[in-house]
Amino acid sequence: MNASRAAVYVHVPWCLQRCPYCDFATEAIAPARIPHEAYARAVLTELELRARALAAPLEPISLFFGGGTPSLWSHDALGAVIAAVSRFGPLGEVTVECNPTSIDRDRASSLRDRGVTRLSLGIQSLRDVHLRYLGRLHDAAGGLKAVREAIAAGGLRVSADVMFGMAEQRRDELVDDVRALVNEGVEHLSCYALTIEQGTRFGELARKGRLPRLPDDDVAALYEGIERTMGDLGFVHYEVSNYARPGRGSEHNLSYWRGEAYLGLGAGAVGCVPTEGGAARRWRNAHDVPGYLASLERAELPAGELEDLDADTRVREGLMLGMRTDEGCDLRAWARRTGTDPRASRAARIARQVERGNVIDEGDVLRIPQARWLVADDIVASVF
Ligand code: SF4
Repeated sequence: MNASRAAVYVHVPWCLQRCPYCDFATEAIAPARIPHEAYARAVLTELELRARALAAPLEPISLFFGGGTPSLWSHDALGAVIAAVSRFGPLGEVTVECNPTSIDRDRASSLRDRGVTRLSLGIQSLRDVHLRYLGRLHDAAGGLKAVREAIAAGGLRVSADVMFGMAEQRRDELVDDVRALVNEGVEHLSCYALTIEQGTRFGELARKGRLPRLPDDDVAALYEGIERTMGDLGFVHYEVSNYARPGRGSEHNLSYWRGEAYLGLGAGAVGCVPTEGGAARRWRNAHDVPGYLASLERAELPAGELEDLDADTRVREGLMLGMRTDEGCDLRAWARRTGTDPRASRAARIARQVERGNVIDEGDVLRIPQARWLVADDIVASVF
């Protein structure tokens, strides 16, 4: 019998405090107010409903708890979700995003004992001045301690998020930070340039001209600094923003970038599964926790937005995600999935980008050379 392969994502929509640059679906909450058990019951019910609606039995690829700050959720709740998803099939990778303020050796061990295999730590920087600029709750010493304790717990793969482009950030500082994280034993690094989003505190300050910013050329120099350092350290740059020891890339994220289905569960979660005729349906649950809990209490799917994607839209999104990786976009896989030849209406545009050295055409696979990854979004848009 066929199976519906899908990565499973659980959104945990709370943080101790909102960071001024963040536009994720999350709200600040005092830990005592988190409805641990009610949210776990709701997520388990949503899992059952979403799995039942699939065309074939769910075959989970991986499980990822993101947010928000999933490490604020009770470990019994996380464990119950891991056990429930595992009943559909073995999980290759189970990741929990953690903030340094909510992880230590005991908590890391407790997560591992419940089936977690990987922690993704929101370190952002190892400089107090930059952490203060970002409005983070932890300091540099706290970030380093979190990494050490997560690794000391044993049996967990540890990834760190690093942000760059903060005002007055220097390349040597950033390079030293990423070296320090790798020396501690981090095997995966996600590096994001600070972006200013509308609707955030930083967005408001930037609009009023009151947010100190780093010039774009300096941001590009920081990116090159990371790129060179991670290469020297033996890491593979396997996606525009991600580096890993060989073979240690995130299975969960790779499955997104390869265009696999994903089941998003929880308030504010997004999911997308194939439907008929090469199309797919995407849902975005409303970010309204009381409404989410009430719907699932009635065993009804939560309110939110639904979007039907036709085959061509799926192919475009597949190019967008796949071409940002070192393995590239697998055109044959997309043709199989959607019944649409991704080249059909794009041959001339692809050829033009190949001529300019922006795209490598390997027949079944299209890739962007890594030297052009800084402008990958523009290149992919020109292939659309
Ligand atoms: S901790 Fe992470 S998810 Fe929460 S507000 Fe800060 S950046 Fe956003």
